[in-house]
Amino acid sequence: MRVGVCVGGSITEYSQGAMLAHEVGHWLGLYHTFEDGCSARSDRIDDTPRELEAFRGCGQIEGFPLNRDSCPNDGGKDPIHNFMDYAYDECKFEFTQGQVQRMQASYERYRQGK
Ligand SMILES: [Zn+2]
Repeated sequence: MRVGVCVGGSITEYSQGAMLAHEVGHWLGLYHTFEDGCSARSDRIDDTPRELEAFRGCGQIEGFPLNRDSCPNDGGKDPIHNFMDYAYDECKFEFTQGQVQRMQASYERYRQGK
């Protein structure tokens, strides 16, 4: 983890704590929402829309609108509010139901009691 990417850290866009949820998501078996881009495998979760590449920012950066749809042949807009994307902390606030189910299953299989 880079210095500054934590609560109160020097990189203000990533210092509100959402990075902890992101890293715990990895620890519990989640991939980035942009994993494998627009491919059918994507992040291996059915209810997260596919995303070509990471979303950095929070809609106020030119070229990175909040309604971005980088995989237009797939259903849904880019999941830029998802903890497993790279949006600024203030824009990240959700895991999908499929991600929660994977985290629960990963915890029970690999982490619980270990
Ligand atoms: Zn990550």
